[in-house]
Formats: sequence, structure tokens, C-alpha cells
Amino acid sequence: MKINSAEFVISNSDVAKCPKDKLPEYAFIGRSNVGKSSLINMLTDRKSLAKTSGRPGKTQLINHFIINKTWFLVDLPGYGYARVSKSAKKVFQKFITAYFSKRSQLVSAFVLVDSRHEPQKIDLEFMQWLGENQIPFSIIFTKADKLSKNKLPSHIDNYTKMMLEYWEEMPNYFITSSSSGLGKEDILNYIQEVNSQLKKS
Ligand code: GDP
Repeated sequence: MKINSAEFVISNSDVAKCPKDKLPEYAFIGRSNVGKSSLINMLTDRKSLAKTSGRPGKTQLINHFIINKTWFLVDLPGYGYARVSKSAKKVFQKFITAYFSKRSQLVSAFVLVDSRHEPQKIDLEFMQWLGENQIPFSIIFTKADKLSKNKLPSHIDNYTKMMLEYWEEMPNYFITSSSSGLGKEDILNYIQEVNSQLKKS
């Protein structure tokens, strides 16, 4: 898929106020610092699209972008801040739960995980929750350039083994690097393919 246009639409904290258009929607989520903004900018060929909502509270908002005037890319808040209080975590959980449960346009989520790290409890639990709620998702391994060519496959293998302790099969996944552009075509083609199947159905 070629990106002809990528525009910021709206940021908000209330799922009821998200755009009403019935366009297919793909949500990007992961631990803070996983490389989500960099990935969104890489996918859309924009230097700072993921930051255009600008305000300091941005990380706690649902950010909608419209791509090629045909689908929504949604930048969700990063989770897993070590310093956030328990009550703040609860608010966050409610907010994310509401988004995933109520957003009927949502086609699929992309759960970002750092290629270098072992599977993290918070990511595994989140994916478990998506599974239980029948929300389709793919995993995106980020920052692949930070691992050597030899180490990358063994890290992915380890991750897969760990996932298979909970899942019957490894979910669909993409290996990416925002600095080299690795994975860009695969993700965009995947979205294009899903969008065209939705049109047919
Ligand atoms: P976010 O908090 O998930 O939006 O993460 P950012 O996109 O802001 O990235 C966090 C840090 O990781 C920044 O210093 C980025 O420059 C760096 N980073 C993000 N993606 C990559 C990548 O693919 N390769 C490398 N080497 N660094 C990356």
C-alpha cells in the first residue's frame, strides 16, 4: 500500500467521542517506549505524525489518524509505566477496556513488543485479555535493528515458545525496525489485504 495521505483527526479520552465514520480501524498499543510513535511515523512516511496531537496528556488519549482517506490508524496510550499509581492504572484499564469493547469499527489491534526483551507479563496478560474478548490482533516486534542477525531469530523463537504455553498457535506477527524500514511493506500490505476483504464481504 502506498501512503498518499495521513492526517491527524482527533484526540480524546472518551470512546463515545471517537469519529463516527464507519471506516476500518487498526489500533497500535504497547508498553511506553516500545517504539510506537517511531513505528507509526515510519509506516506513514511522516516525521512526527504520531506527535501531532502535541499536548502533554497525549499519552493518555486515543489518537485517530486517517490514512488515504480510507482507514483509521489509532495510536493508543502506552501502558506499563512503573511509576504510575494503582488508581491511575485502574483508570487506564477502564479506558482501554472501553475502547476495545465498544469500538465497533476496530478490525484488528497491533500489540508492540521490543524484539530484545523476553515476553513481559503485562504484554502476555494484555494479549490474553484480547483473546478472551475475541479481539483480533497481531504482534509487532520493534527495534529489530538493535539485535544482531544471529540473535534476532533466536529471540523470536523464544518468544514463540513462551506464547505457545498460553496459545494454541503463535499469533500473526511482524518484525520491524523504524530506523531501517523493516516490516513496513508487510504491515501495510496486510492492512490493505484485510481492507479489501472487508469491502468484498
Ligand atoms: P513510544 O513511547 O512507544 O512512542 O516510543 P518512541 O517511538 O518514542 O521510541 C522510544 C525510543 O526508542 C526513542 O529513543 C526511539 O528513537 C527509539 N526507537 C524507536 N524505534 C526504534 C527502532 O526501530 N530502532 C532503534 N534503533 N531505535 C528505535
